[in-house]
Amino acid sequence: MRTLIVNGLVVTPTGEIRADLLIEQGKIAGILTPGGQLPAADELIDASGLIVMPGTIDAHTHFTAAHDFPELELREGTQGAAAHGVTTIIEMPHSLPPVTTVDSFLARREMLASSCCVDFALWAGLDGNNVSQLAKMQQAGAIAFKAFLCSDSADGAASDEKGLPRLNDDSLLRAMRELACFNGLIGVHAENHDILIGASRELRAAGRSDNRAIALAGPEIAETEAVGRVLHFARQTGVRTHIVHVSSAEAVRMITAARPAARVTCETCPHYLLLDVEDLVRIGANTRCSPPLRPRPVVNALWQRVHSGEIDLLASDHYPCTPAQKQTGQHGIWDAVKGLTGVETLGPLFFSEGHIRRALPLAEVARMTARGPAQVFQLWPQKGAIALGADADLALYDPQANWTVSGEKFHGLGKWSAFDGIRCRGNVVRTLIRGITVFRAGEMQVAPGFGQFLTRTGYSPVLSGG
Ligand SMILES: [Zn+2]
Repeated sequence: MRTLIVNGLVVTPTGEIRADLLIEQGKIAGILTPGGQLPAADELIDASGLIVMPGTIDAHTHFTAAHDFPELELREGTQGAAAHGVTTIIEMPHSLPPVTTVDSFLARREMLASSCCVDFALWAGLDGNNVSQLAKMQQAGAIAFKAFLCSDSADGAASDEKGLPRLNDDSLLRAMRELACFNGLIGVHAENHDILIGASRELRAAGRSDNRAIALAGPEIAETEAVGRVLHFARQTGVRTHIVHVSSAEAVRMITAARPAARVTCETCPHYLLLDVEDLVRIGANTRCSPPLRPRPVVNALWQRVHSGEIDLLASDHYPCTPAQKQTGQHGIWDAVKGLTGVETLGPLFFSEGHIRRALPLAEVARMTARGPAQVFQLWPQKGAIALGADADLALYDPQANWTVSGEKFHGLGKWSAFDGIRCRGNVVRTLIRGITVFRAGEMQVAPGFGQFLTRTGYSPVLSGG
């Protein structure tokens, strides 16, 4: 099967060029100067007026964590991902049971292989007792290992039966030493447990159940302290370390300063770039996440870190709980489940806010949504860029499309969005995975189970430090 995509503006790692793309056997086989003799092809796609971006890799999703219908969520939710330019997801270990053993890892791999519409890789989890399982899970294909330094329970227990407990410093250090033995990657939710527990206890005791209390319960110092500790452990152990959902620009500064002595990377999420604490106060439950939304000066400083290239990737932290789970109750916003939907807005929102509104170059948008995650999670160079030999995973954007975020229209079961009402410019009109059109003209073109399981290519990122 040969496909040609002609007349598009193609975004490569070095910039955007007018080019025609030749796809053979699912791979990019030619980046052709327009106007020349075109090779014969089975399928011709006219991308006039469109921007051809590498497909988005969402390295942080929780499709199976949020409610009792994990397979259904994977089927419908990954359709939503494909419809919005996401071509690979890396799914977190939260599930029933959590992925902390080889057996649970293999069962989970089966579940995703039969349900996903997009390609997928899998995280495994650290629970403080499974150091002996880590090498085996990596051999079975685990791409990274998730650690929590905090919990909603004072005793550090997992917040529900699908979750992971907090690791104390001893367990964290032991896990990092073990992972370093086989070049594993640890991904850390870095917030100081004691500070969070103390702050929320004080606020609840004072009778606070208003929206702003959620922000006060997750002070920035809890994040920067934990990041500092993880950086110290990363330097000492030499393990590849990834800090998930960084909300603090100061934490990013610390991470940059720690390179290259520590092999550390970081991600942020659209909600930390598009929303601030006043949105939390105004909107309430639908913006509850952890770490919480930050004050506007922190958001502005985080954008500076985006523009300076210090943030390796953007991920959604997609948590598609039902609207009912986001409701407040007698304890006010404390009753709203933490976590935001985001896989269906990740690429288009960042295209609109980053590129159209803030003039971030398209190659930088592509770095943060495709090349960065591919390199950090060792899917590079099979995934992550429009380059010769890479999988033809593509998102075709109409840069003129005007649209407004509406969670009601999501494909997944979490039909709500913290971004409801935000006006955007630029949207995905067609998505290809391995050269096959999976979405176009508003319709899915493939069935659940199309997505393939991905393992590490072995590539190790060269860290630039910004
Ligand atoms: Zn998460």
